[in-house]
Amino acid sequence: MSKTLSVNAGSSSLKWQLFEMPEEKMLAKGIFERIGLEGSKSLVSFEGEKHEREIEIIDHRQSVLLLMDELIHFHLIQDFREITGIGHRVVAGGEYFKESVVLTKENLKNLKSISYLAPLHNPANILGIEAFQRLLPEALSVAVFDTAFHTTMPEEAFRYPIPTRYYEDFEVRKYGAHGTSHKYVAAEAAKVLGKPLEEINLITAHIGNGASVTAIEKGKSVDTSMGFTPLAGVMMGTRSGDMDASILPYLLKRDDSLENAQQLIDILNNESGILGVSELSSDMRDLEVAVSEGNEKAILAYKMFVNRLKKYIAEYFGILNGADALVFTAGIGENDTDVRRDIIKGLSWFGMELVPELNVRGANGIISTPDSKVKVLVIPTNEELMIARDVENFREAWFKQILEKG
Ligand code: AMP
Repeated sequence: MSKTLSVNAGSSSLKWQLFEMPEEKMLAKGIFERIGLEGSKSLVSFEGEKHEREIEIIDHRQSVLLLMDELIHFHLIQDFREITGIGHRVVAGGEYFKESVVLTKENLKNLKSISYLAPLHNPANILGIEAFQRLLPEALSVAVFDTAFHTTMPEEAFRYPIPTRYYEDFEVRKYGAHGTSHKYVAAEAAKVLGKPLEEINLITAHIGNGASVTAIEKGKSVDTSMGFTPLAGVMMGTRSGDMDASILPYLLKRDDSLENAQQLIDILNNESGILGVSELSSDMRDLEVAVSEGNEKAILAYKMFVNRLKKYIAEYFGILNGADALVFTAGIGENDTDVRRDIIKGLSWFGMELVPELNVRGANGIISTPDSKVKVLVIPTNEELMIARDVENFREAWFKQILEKG
């Protein structure tokens, strides 16, 4: 029995979950918010209780120290050494990291060398990794990549139809994201369907604040909607998703408030999507309140959101030449019965029909009729557990290596 932390370090936050492994028992979870900003706070929850406190958090290094303090304070551990494994979510692994790796000096060096692929995310992930390595040098430290599951995409899916030199010289290609989630729900869906994952085709729709759709053939990702970065694909809470690249230079010329392309990319990442069109909120719950009140911008944003999801799902029926099931997951996919209903309503031609009584909030399993040619499933995602499992997968080999070294 050992304790493993799953860590997800963002630019100004650090989310964590503590597991007892190999039992896969989640003991506690928490988040440090607004790291390095005014009003930072820590949230810890376990055994149905939530503990929140405002506390100054200067940087990621301090948040890691505070996390260990919280674990001791709430008697979740008695001693730092009880944490024997730490799994870090890393956004971009590029073409180099095709699966999870132990963060040896060499692997960390290589990880740093590809930070340019995700300048907003990877440096924060690395800060978290280094802070833990300083504090818990004995613990097994593993990187789990959001892109790894998608490294099975064939070249015709991951290449952009632009001059070949941009791929060969600058690695411009589709990498995808949310891989840990798509992989987890695909495996769980196969269990629900009672078929080996290697024998079925699935379309997985991770629809949260960030959203992506993946075509999975016999357990392997063969196409996904996010691209070179997580900006591409379907419309999201604050991200535009796909759009004509010519709009960028056009807007740079027309909008005097724009100074450079990065500013525009920031707008496409943070001020677009549901928020940009509705001019209200990026949150689907807020949007639906406004829709029910007849707010026209909100209605348009909702329709665009559903449309773009439908387009990708339909496209992947084509890529896979048919699928056994469509799987919904993440905040909206798991909870929003209207979005699920409206997507399926528009795709009934593909052989999917929902049972309204099963299409409820918190559904878990099949929600389509027995006659549906393509089953529709809701599977709650659990990226943190996947990360803890990946740490577990390395444990035996890692400790054997340590013993051999003496
Ligand atoms: P995530 O990024 O997976 O945490 O998902 C966040 C999104 O899920 C936000 O747009 C929330 O509004 C949405 N969401 C969470 N709970 C619900 C719910 N009960 N009904 C509709 N949307 C929800």
